[in-house]
Amino acid sequence: MSDVRNVIIIGSGPAGYTAALYTARASLKPLVFEGSVTAGGALMNTTEVENYPGFRDGILGPDLMDQMRAQAERFGAELVADDVTAVDLSGEIKTVTDSVGTVHRARTVIVSTGSQHRKLNLPREDELSGRGVSYCATCDGFFFRDQDIAVVGGGDTAMEEATFLSRFAKSVTIVHRRDALRASKAMQERAFADPKIGFAWNSEVAEIHDKDGKLSALTLRDTQTGETSELAVTGLFVAIGHDPRTELFEGVLEFDEEGYLTVDSPSTRTKIPGVFAAGDVVDHTYRQAITAAGTGCAAALDAERYLAALT
Ligand code: FAD
Repeated sequence: MSDVRNVIIIGSGPAGYTAALYTARASLKPLVFEGSVTAGGALMNTTEVENYPGFRDGILGPDLMDQMRAQAERFGAELVADDVTAVDLSGEIKTVTDSVGTVHRARTVIVSTGSQHRKLNLPREDELSGRGVSYCATCDGFFFRDQDIAVVGGGDTAMEEATFLSRFAKSVTIVHRRDALRASKAMQERAFADPKIGFAWNSEVAEIHDKDGKLSALTLRDTQTGETSELAVTGLFVAIGHDPRTELFEGVLEFDEEGYLTVDSPSTRTKIPGVFAAGDVVDHTYRQAITAAGTGCAAALDAERYLAALT
């Protein structure tokens, strides 16, 4: 059995690395489980990040995450590229089990496991991600000024993304599998009233095509008749939902109706004393690197205060 640590952090995106930086600088020697596949989090899968403050000319996602990682390490954070496979958060001393079954103990745990956007699961979707295919209008809308783009989805997020994108785009086509939207009435009305927004009803994306490695067109399939048609677009925004990574915490922590962890907002305290949650695993509203980093900082400060009160 390992010594009891002050802090274990699960997850290595902007939230986890920021929590690591702050707790390391507070001499709490955090142990960070970065995950075995995507250490560095969601931004490892993107190219240019233009909206993270401090980088006037933008920075590549993986470079930004390398910087955050190195900054946390510089102050003594211990980083492990491994997955947490089980947790017991009930007692004053929490336990976290890694992939080889080693049990690590800590007085506080910060959960920052992020969320995964849903994909269409089409051939070439991953390859064209960042080359026309996007999952975040706030992040990438600016790159599509005066272009024809499509948004897939029929919920509030899809409507919000479409109305946001219409500020930049020449046209926005909402591609939806049914003949009616799921989005709230107010969001629907905003989309219907927008002269730049059109609809491809009863339609799904069957294929994505590129020209010189960049998205150039979609093949749409009518969900009723099976007929196909081409839609020339240089942007495809997939807005069919996100899945917060919360499997470890089923029956342990509390969730909202969309499956995100709930905290005693504006703090990062979960219902279990000594357990804090930050970043996209909590947040289905903003979902940005800077907001994840911000709540990662808050979780570190909340953990520090909790530990101080124990002594
Ligand atoms: P994540 O970055 O998702 O990190 C979570 C981490 O937890 C991952 O490393 C994962 O491996 C790890 N993890 C999960 N489960 C476990 C486990 N059991 N054990 C150990 N580790 C685990 N935001 C912007 O602000 N600007 C942009 O330009 C931008 N572009 C984006 C482009 C793309 C393609 C995507 C997908 C997102 C983009 N975002 C952008 C959003 C931004 O990446 C997220 O808001 C942010 O990364 C969330 O940070 P996080 O720390 O909460 O989680």
